[in-house]
Amino acid sequence: MSKTNQAKRPNPLIHEQVHYRGDDLLDETLTFSLSKPDPSGSEFWTQVGSSALSASMIRRSMSICGYCGLKSRKYLQVLARNGREYDRASLRVACIFCSQVKTLDLVPVMRSGVLIRAPKTSQVELNIWARAIYVGRISQGPVAERARETLDKIMSLRDAAKAELGSEDPAHLAQQLRDRTEATAADLDAKLTGIRLFPLDRRLIREAELEFNQFPQILAYWRSKDGPFGGMTPPQWDLDTFTPLLSRDF
Ligand SMILES: [Zn+2]
Repeated sequence: MSKTNQAKRPNPLIHEQVHYRGDDLLDETLTFSLSKPDPSGSEFWTQVGSSALSASMIRRSMSICGYCGLKSRKYLQVLARNGREYDRASLRVACIFCSQVKTLDLVPVMRSGVLIRAPKTSQVELNIWARAIYVGRISQGPVAERARETLDKIMSLRDAAKAELGSEDPAHLAQQLRDRTEATAADLDAKLTGIRLFPLDRRLIREAELEFNQFPQILAYWRSKDGPFGGMTPPQWDLDTFTPLLSRDF
């Protein structure tokens, strides 16, 4: 049995999205916003509450995140620009990682993300990689080790976000967005050009009095045979899956 890397196939999800669509993905459309209006009158995005409307939009989008292209039959959300749920053109299907960028004020509640500074890497690309890192990391072997190394490298970019914004905590940025005025908005936007929200492996959901971390079940779905990674486990991935990140100047 050959132990070389040759038998390993590139993971289709990562490969198609990052390697083949990388250039497209770098046109940055996934920028920060809040889930409620703020005094500056900036665009905000609400989560659509109606499950019938959500289900119909997700069906129409063929279960594809409108930002990063993730195709997943579960754990997609529908967002409405400025709360305009009645206007189809204002609706957007989003995966959990893309959705939380558009509804940044919800991140501190779920404790599901941290700010990093990565001016040369788009938010969309980071979201795609974050899924691969978390799926890759929970296995054993060299791919998992590289996934962990990659995560460490990305986490080290928090310091630069803190230097730029005063804190790497999304709650702090959400407050800055809430407090912005027409006069300060341009200044804040300029600071944010290199700032990204890196998803954490946590998603605290409150139901009635109970709080639980939904992330493990999402991860289990992503890894499952019906999930976006198609049941292809990290030991089957190309050993160089994370090399583009390990050698990158973010
Ligand atoms: Zn997405």
